[in-house]
Amino acid sequence: MNLAQLQTGQRAVILRVGGSGAFRKRILEMGFVQGKEIMAVHNAPLKDPIYYKILDYNVSLRRKDAQRIEIRPLEALSTSPTSEPEEELFPAPELHSLQRMDGRGSETKKLPTLRVALVGNPNCGKTSLFNQASGAHEHVGNYSGVTVEAKVGHIYYGGYRLELIDLPGAYSLSPYSPEELYIRHYLTGEERPDLVLNVIDATNLERNLYLTLQLKELGLPVIAALNMYDEFLQRREWFDYPRLATLLGVPMIPTICRTGLGLEALFDEVISLAKGLKEGDETLLAAETGKLRPLRIPYGPLLEPIIEELTEKVQEHSEIKDPIAARSIAIRLLERDKDTEQELLARHARGGFLLSARDYALHKLQEHASEEAEELITDARYGFISGALKETYRPKHRGERTLTDRLDDLATSRLWGFPIFLGLMITMFFVTFSLGQYPMDWIEEGIGLLGGWIGSQMSAGPLRDLLVDGIIKGVGGVTVFLPQIVLLYLFISLLEDSGYMARAAFIMDRLMHRMGLHGKSFIPLVMGFGCNVPAVMSTRMIESRKSRLITMLVLPFMSCSARLPVYILLAGAFFPVPWQATLVLFSLYVIGVLVAVLSARLLKTVAFKGEDIPFVMELPPYRRPTLRSVAIHVWMRAQQYLQKMGTVILAASVIVWFMSYYPRQEQARQQVDHQIEQLEQSELAPELRQERIDSLEHAFATFHQEQSIIGRIGQVCEPVIRPLGFDWKMGVSIVSGLMAKEVVVSTMGVIYTGVGEDDDAAIAQLSTRMQQERRADGSPSFTPLIAYSFMLFILLYFPCIATLIAIGRESDDWRWGLFAAVYSCVVAWLVCFAVYQVGQLLA
Ligand code: GDP
Ligand code: MG
Repeated sequence: MNLAQLQTGQRAVILRVGGSGAFRKRILEMGFVQGKEIMAVHNAPLKDPIYYKILDYNVSLRRKDAQRIEIRPLEALSTSPTSEPEEELFPAPELHSLQRMDGRGSETKKLPTLRVALVGNPNCGKTSLFNQASGAHEHVGNYSGVTVEAKVGHIYYGGYRLELIDLPGAYSLSPYSPEELYIRHYLTGEERPDLVLNVIDATNLERNLYLTLQLKELGLPVIAALNMYDEFLQRREWFDYPRLATLLGVPMIPTICRTGLGLEALFDEVISLAKGLKEGDETLLAAETGKLRPLRIPYGPLLEPIIEELTEKVQEHSEIKDPIAARSIAIRLLERDKDTEQELLARHARGGFLLSARDYALHKLQEHASEEAEELITDARYGFISGALKETYRPKHRGERTLTDRLDDLATSRLWGFPIFLGLMITMFFVTFSLGQYPMDWIEEGIGLLGGWIGSQMSAGPLRDLLVDGIIKGVGGVTVFLPQIVLLYLFISLLEDSGYMARAAFIMDRLMHRMGLHGKSFIPLVMGFGCNVPAVMSTRMIESRKSRLITMLVLPFMSCSARLPVYILLAGAFFPVPWQATLVLFSLYVIGVLVAVLSARLLKTVAFKGEDIPFVMELPPYRRPTLRSVAIHVWMRAQQYLQKMGTVILAASVIVWFMSYYPRQEQARQQVDHQIEQLEQSELAPELRQERIDSLEHAFATFHQEQSIIGRIGQVCEPVIRPLGFDWKMGVSIVSGLMAKEVVVSTMGVIYTGVGEDDDAAIAQLSTRMQQERRADGSPSFTPLIAYSFMLFILLYFPCIATLIAIGRESDDWRWGLFAAVYSCVVAWLVCFAVYQVGQLLA
C-alpha cells in the first residue's frame, strides 16, 4: 500500500521511500524514514496535495509523490492512549532576557569581534532571535554571487562585539536548494564564523536535530538554542536536555526568542565557548568530555567499513588530513553529494581517483544491501537521533487536537478552503487599493507643492527643468506607490507570520501545478499586482529553480499599479460609458493573467522540460504574529522598494527628461514667443486670444517633441508599431515606458498638450486633446480600438528596467532578464496585432 491510499485520519508506518534523486533525498531528510509513523490529515480542496502529520509537524505532499512511499497501515488509534502516570517534570530552567550593552560608548569600538552564524530549520525562530538580540542594529547585507540574503547585526555583550549572521532556513546541509548550498559554503568557506548557533524548535526535536547532526559532522563548533520553549513547556513533557547536550556534544540552552527570554544564558554560553575556542581551550574540545566534543555517528556494520576505507583514501590522496574532515567528506561522497564531488575534482589532484573509489565502494555495497547508501545514511542519522531522544525525552501521547488542527479543518477543507482564501485575497486588494489611495493623494499633492515651490525659487533654465520635471517628478512617481506597497506587504507579512500563507500555497498548488508553477508561486504573482520588483524578489521562497524561473518570467504580465494610470486615462477618454470602462479595465487584468498562464505552460513545455522538484511543504502551526516582526518585515520591504526602485526610476526619469528636452529649439521658441507677444497686443477677444496662444504652444510642443531625441526614436519605431494602429507619438510614450511605466502618462501629457502636469485639470485637457488628435490624413489618431490596443501593449510589453534588473539578479543570469524583455515585447506585438487587425475587420 502506498501513502496516497491512506484515508483521512488513518495512521501508518513508513516502509520504504521509492523514487530517486532530489525528491527521495529531500523526503528522507524530512523524516520519511523507515519505521516512522505518519497520519493523513486532509486532502486539499482539489484532492491534491495531501496534508500529513509526521514526526511532530505537518507537511503536504503531492499525490504523485505520496504514491512513491510504501506504508503499512496501523490499527485504529484505540490501542495507543494508555493512561500515562503523571510523571515528574524535568525542572524548568529560569529564563532571563538579555541586558544589552549600549553600543554608542567609545569603549565598544575596541572590543574583539566574534562571528556567530544562526542556522536552523525554516521557521524555528532564527530571525526572532536575531531581532531580539541585535535590536535596532541590523542592516541588510547582500552577499555577492548568490541570490540569498543573509542579514548581519551585532550586539555588545560580555566584553565582546558579537556579530550575528541570520542565514536562510535549511532542513539539511545537502545541497538541495540554493539556500542550503549557500549555507554550507558559508559555514565551511574562507569567511567561516567562529561559532554556529543552531536554533532548534524544541517542539519538533527529531527533525530539527537532523541538521544539528550534519553541522556536527562537518566538525563545526555548534551551540544550540532550544527555542519555542514556551510551547514546549505547555506539553508538560520530561526532557533532560543537559544530558542530550552531552550526548551530542552540543551545549543546549532553552530560549523563547519571541520574547527574548533565555537569551542571557544563551549568550553567556556563546561568549564562554567562543572565548575558549579563540584561546584554544582544551577542555572545550577534549575528545571524551569536552562541551564541543566531536560527534561520530555510527553508520552500522554495512556502511561503517566502507566509510572508514574511503576516509583513509581521502586522507591519503588529498590534502585533507584531519580525520573528522576526511570522514565527513567520505560520507558526503557516499551520499553522492554533487557539490562535494565538484570541490574534490577542482581542488585536489587525485579527486577523480577518489570518485572512482567511491563508485567502486557503492558498487560493492549494492551486493549486500537492498537500500542505497543515501538511505542507509539518513536512516542511521535518524536512528541516532531516536536513540539519543529515547534516553533523554519522554513524549506524551498527544491524542487531543490542537488549535492548529481545528483551524486547518476550516482553512484547508474542501468546502471552506477556497471561499476563505478568496475572501482574504479580496479583502487584501480592496484595502490596499482603496485605503492606499488617500496617502497616495497626499503624497502626490506634496510633491506637486514641492515642485512648484522649487520652480518658483529658481530661475528658469535647464537646471530648474531637470530638478522639477526630471528629478522631483521621477522620485515622486516612486514614492507615490509607497503607501500601497506598505499596505500590501502589511497584509502579506500578517498572512506569512500567522502561518496562513503555507495553507494558501497548499490550496493553490494543484491549479498552479497545471500551469507549470508551484503552490508557492501564487504569492509572488499576487504581489505582482502591486509592483513587479518586490514580487520577483519574493520568488526566493520557491525551492525549485525551474518553478522559480518560470514564475519570475511570467510575473511581468501581472498588471502592476504603475500601469493603472494609463488605463484610467485612455479608458476614460475613449470608453465614456462607465460600465464599458470598467469592463475594459477588468479585461486588461484578465488578459494579463491569461497571458501569464499560457506563457507558463509554454515555458514549461519548451524551455523547462522534465520533472520538477517535489512539493514538500511544511505547514507550520498557526501563531499570533508579533507587532515587532511585522513592523520589521514591512519596513524592510519598503526600504528595498525605495532603494532599488528609487535609484532606477530616478535615473530613468532623468534620461527620459533629457531625451525629450534636447535638442532645444531656441529659434522656434523665439518665433513662438514673438507671435504670442503680437497676439497679446492684438485686438482679439480674450477667449479667442487664449485659444490661439494655446494652439501655438501646442504646435510648438509637438514640433519640439518631434525633433527631440525621444521623438526621433519614436519615429524610427513607427513602421514597427504601425500595424498595431499606433503612430510615432504613441511610440514615444512606449519608449519612455521602457524605463518605468510610471512615466508613460506624463510623457503623453508632454506630447499631446505641451505640459507635463498630471493633475485633474491637466488630465481632462489631455483626454480632450487625444480625442481631437488627427493624423496627417485627417483621420483620428485614437479610436476606441486603437486605444484598447495601446492599453494592451502597455500591459504586456517590456517589464520596466527595475523588474529586469530584479529578474537578472534573482536568476543569477542576465540572459533571463534579456529573455523576459524580448519575449514580452514579441508577445505584446503579436497580441496587439491580432486585436487591432481583427478589430478593424469587424468594425
Ligand atoms: P525563522 O524562519 O527561523 O527566521 O523563524 P522566525 O523568527 O520567523 O519565527 C517563526 C515563527 O515562530 C514566528 O511566528 C515567531 O513569532 C515564532 N516564534 C519564534 N520564537 C518563538 C518562541 O520562542 N515561542 C513561540 N511560541 N513562538 C516563537
Ligand atoms: Mg527567518
